[in-house]
Amino acid sequence: MEAEIRELMCDLCHKMWQKDWVAANDGNLSALLSDGTVLATPTGYSKSLIRENMLVRIDRDGHVLDAGAGFRPSSEIKMHLRCYQERPDVFGVVHAHPPYATAFAAAGIPLTDYSMTETVAALGQVPLAPYGTPSTREVPDSVAPYLQNHDTVLLKNHGVLAVGADLLTAFYRMETAEHFAKVTLFVKILGGPDEIPEQNVRDLMALRTTTYHATGRHPGYDIHHRHQIKE
Ligand SMILES: [Zn+2]
Repeated sequence: MEAEIRELMCDLCHKMWQKDWVAANDGNLSALLSDGTVLATPTGYSKSLIRENMLVRIDRDGHVLDAGAGFRPSSEIKMHLRCYQERPDVFGVVHAHPPYATAFAAAGIPLTDYSMTETVAALGQVPLAPYGTPSTREVPDSVAPYLQNHDTVLLKNHGVLAVGADLLTAFYRMETAEHFAKVTLFVKILGGPDEIPEQNVRDLMALRTTTYHATGRHPGYDIHHRHQIKE
């Protein structure tokens, strides 16, 4: 199991670099293993170069248990550990700077339109967490409130955080959030969204349990959104 996760983590690192979600040494991934320890990407290396012997195993407090010489856990590991602390259903965390979603984070605009069927069902809305200085406690503190109801969060002036019941699910949520942001940008150019009616949004959200058997948490409504869907 751990061997499979190590192989997957390296594969996803390479994919996120190929997909232009990270520049230089940006981005980090982690997975909570069955023994309660956390496997994480090392700080200071491009995701294009990650190999299995570079991954670092730590405990839930961030202490290094197993690492090759010269490899230290990601500088944003506190944010990852907070995800596992806040969400017992989360076993995979992906952080990246995909350009379209990061543009919304840099502009201070959350992704709140109910404008695409798959995105409504998969992510709901993607909120914007307040600014935090990278690598400090400010980042985990800023995202913690949003993690209660969301699996994907924009980090203001920074990037995107996605969590999942496993690493691959977190990766797919990052991919869906970036696609949502890309389409939303074009929709804004075309004059703004023609949103899905409230009853149809409710039906899409119901599909999560009846058809998609989706894991994770899902925002049925958001206090900042003009079309509130009340539970
Ligand atoms: Zn970052």
